[in-house]
Amino acid sequence: MLEALNVILKIQECDMKMIQLLEVRRQREKERESIKANEASLTNRVNEKESDIFEMKKVIRQMEGEHADVLAKIKKLEAHQSSIKKVDEYNAITHELSTADRERLTKEQRLSDFYDRLTVEEDNLKVLKENLDSAIAGSKVHENEIEENIRLINSEGRAIKTERDELVSHANVEVFKIYERLLRNKRDRVVVPLENRCCSGCHIMLTAQHENLVRRGERLVFCEHCSRIHYWQENKVLEDALVPTKQRRRKAKV
Ligand SMILES: [Zn+2]
Repeated sequence: MLEALNVILKIQECDMKMIQLLEVRRQREKERESIKANEASLTNRVNEKESDIFEMKKVIRQMEGEHADVLAKIKKLEAHQSSIKKVDEYNAITHELSTADRERLTKEQRLSDFYDRLTVEEDNLKVLKENLDSAIAGSKVHENEIEENIRLINSEGRAIKTERDELVSHANVEVFKIYERLLRNKRDRVVVPLENRCCSGCHIMLTAQHENLVRRGERLVFCEHCSRIHYWQENKVLEDALVPTKQRRRKAKV
């Protein structure tokens, strides 16, 4: 049974690497999506700003037309007034002129406000466009990096799969089936050592009787708490060969 578990343990290490790889790939794909989303949102803001400016220019053109009309009206009134002899008619035109002049001032004030706002908005647009350009330039580099990374992950994944397929061809069919079912449920190591009578999967203590069964290694022994398969680490050499690097490092620190 120990021999059968040894093959499964190697398969398990392949699967752990694969799970980790897939997780890294998923993160990289998410990064790529967020780059795209950021670009889209910047493009959107540029488009919105451009359309605001377009509308603002339309309003300004209309106001400039109205302003020109008032100027023309004033000019006409002034020309008319110079030819008038009657005092009351003259006064009436003076009144009309001062009304038109107030109108002119109001329009000039509003126009000046609009010109100021337009300048501000055009500056904003410039900044937005620069941001978009540098985001696109920066993300090109980043995206290429991600693509390259994903390519490497895929090729590493293929190598792991080849190794795994080879191991599976040597595995005990029944034990492998059980292993795969457990792995599907846990997405984590499911063949784990029993250490100091403690399951290294769920960290719950087991009985001496359980420990004896595992130590004997005559059949598969499952953790009664988490259903993982237990194995006995006969010596340190075996442990070093089987315990994953990360766990070993953690142990070394303690
Ligand atoms: Zn357990």
